[in-house]
Amino acid sequence: MKIVHAICPSCSVGCGIDLIVENGKVVGTYPYKRHPINEGKNCLDGKNCYKIINHEERLKKPLIKKNGGFVEVSWNEALELIANKLKNHDSKDIGFIASGKCTNEDNYALKKFAEALGVENIGHCICNSPKVSLDKEIASIDDIENAEVILIFGDVFEWNALIGRKVIKAKDKGAEVITVDRVEKEITKLNSDEFIKVNDFAEFLSNPNDEIVKKLSEKNSIIIFNALTKEEECDLAYKLAEKTNSRILPIAKHCNTVGATMVGVPALNKDEVINLIKSVKCLYIMGENPALIDNEALKNVEFLVVQDIIMSETAKLADVVLPSACWAEKGGTFINTERKTQKINKAVNPPEDALEDWRIIKNLAEKMEINLGFNSIEDIQKNL
Ligand code: SF4
Repeated sequence: MKIVHAICPSCSVGCGIDLIVENGKVVGTYPYKRHPINEGKNCLDGKNCYKIINHEERLKKPLIKKNGGFVEVSWNEALELIANKLKNHDSKDIGFIASGKCTNEDNYALKKFAEALGVENIGHCICNSPKVSLDKEIASIDDIENAEVILIFGDVFEWNALIGRKVIKAKDKGAEVITVDRVEKEITKLNSDEFIKVNDFAEFLSNPNDEIVKKLSEKNSIIIFNALTKEEECDLAYKLAEKTNSRILPIAKHCNTVGATMVGVPALNKDEVINLIKSVKCLYIMGENPALIDNEALKNVEFLVVQDIIMSETAKLADVVLPSACWAEKGGTFINTERKTQKINKAVNPPEDALEDWRIIKNLAEKMEINLGFNSIEDIQKNL
């Protein structure tokens, strides 16, 4: 048995997790005892994050759809087909969807490939999470524990449990916790001194009650949000923070949503992802599953390539499916919600023919006689 330090891929908090490896297989997890964010604790999603590695629908071979069904093919055949299709489409008719679930290195590779082809339709889906410009300053996760007043928009206790734990630690030291949400949940109410149910976050933030403004202004305070999804709501939260001299911590969706944005892939909300899909004829998706938002839009794409770890709803609609290595099968980096870069380590080999996302893109580019300027993760990291 061996233990490999990893970063939990299940949300953007970036907790450390130890993978238990037996006979070349990840069989479980331990919390990463000395990791500064989670201090030896993981939530249930973290604890179970290894299960996807051994998922029964893991993709192991490249697949091409023929007569309505998938047929296993060689990497050469799959990449040849994709290369020909890309060559025969105008760059404005091609789109790429990157992913906050893939590493910085994977996202960088896809961005470089899109640039080399002159493709501007590229983005990664932030789903329903805050869209905050990278120019805006943010608090650190450690700031939560030292705050005296904590104003939360959304549910951090269930969605981002280790942020919730920091809030509880601050509360134990005497902090006052005020939660504002559209949904009443027992766990949130139990952990908050005050719970305010609203129908509209923007309405609340446009005219916050005087008592809350006073509390935030008078003490060391922090505003945390994972439920403010519209730019208007995020801007209003920043205005409130400025007015009250509070720190602010937006919580992103996936383990590397922030990183994908930081390497230069535009962050798109759900509507923007659908618009991208509708605007192209040839679409290449890495590690995302937009069929869960709108599978009709995907059905209208003339040529669809999906590169992923399992046969997702989106992969089922694809013309070509490429098997990729999951986070426990490769090196690279994630950037968490407080913009901290953390290294992930390869614990086991990918199944059969599956490859790292960045390597698949490099191989495809080579098929098109395009040199992306890197041969390894280290090469990519020099440019990040
Ligand atoms: S809080 Fe998020 S990063 Fe931490 S263990 Fe839970 S799912 Fe993983």
